Amino acid sequence: METFFAALMSASLILTWSAGTRVAAVFQNACATGAYQTASRLNAASLDTAEITPFGRSEAGWKVYAPQIARTIGTPCAPDTKGFAATLASWQAKHRLHATGSVNIETIGAMKSAWQQARPFIGELRDGSCPEAPAEAALAEIAPREGWLGKISKLDPHALTALRNMIAAARRADPEIAADRQMLQIVSAFRSPAYDAARCAKEHNCNGVARARCSAHRTGRAVDIYVGALPGKSPVSSDDANRLFQTQTPAYRWLVANAGRFGFVNYVFEPWHWEWVGTAPADPIVLAELKPRHRAPVEASATSLKPLLRLKAMFGLSD
Ligand SMILES: [Zn+2]
Repeated sequence: METFFAALMSASLILTWSAGTRVAAVFQNACATGAYQTASRLNAASLDTAEITPFGRSEAGWKVYAPQIARTIGTPCAPDTKGFAATLASWQAKHRLHATGSVNIETIGAMKSAWQQARPFIGELRDGSCPEAPAEAALAEIAPREGWLGKISKLDPHALTALRNMIAAARRADPEIAADRQMLQIVSAFRSPAYDAARCAKEHNCNGVARARCSAHRTGRAVDIYVGALPGKSPVSSDDANRLFQTQTPAYRWLVANAGRFGFVNYVFEPWHWEWVGTAPADPIVLAELKPRHRAPVEASATSLKPLLRLKAMFGLSD
């Protein structure tokens, strides 16, 4: 009987494998054919070289953003293919941009707007206010094994349930993700405004005022997740090489394709930073207990704070 099951298992594995290969081959063919030869050549060239400044800092090439661009336009094709260019041209036309099929500054700008609009936190900053931090007693504590290097932190309980569901799904979907227990662990979650202000003062680094004044982490719904890091780099290092490395990992690729199903959106400049914007998943907490979200009143320093918050919203600064 055991032999029979073993044979059945290997037969089904072979079938799965060949079906996957066939699907990949079909995609490859579809992606390589059609018009848009010039656009695909331009994309291949600009991928590593185009000077862009989508988040207020000059960058060489748009490879870091390629996975999110592909998801946004809805193509499985690689960024240097005709299929990618054709799908991009349709997206550009739909968004009243020049439908060239090549990625340019105008297109990156439109994409960035779309990505940032998906983050309610940014909308609140644009209004010049900053979300009030929840009472810490209302937050749920993560287990030590969930924290990167055993770090304990807290999150909104619904966000934590959604995050746990998402991580479990990622590990089930991809053995490579499951094999590395550090992968998708929580590097940072809730940070109180007081904690961020103290860190800012101590490190003389306020991350362009964002961290000290109004970080998404004060909401309890923002989380930095381990998606890999270059040797010697922090998993939240915004070094360009580190970010590029992270966007190529299976964990990040899986998140880009699937996090939306669990109510998470990415601050695209930071492959590790995800915000929960979903509806509460089924868990033991009664929905009616969820209090409406408050907005902190614009404080005494508001006059000077407002332009800074606008600046932050414009650049989408976070950490
Ligand atoms: Zn973060």
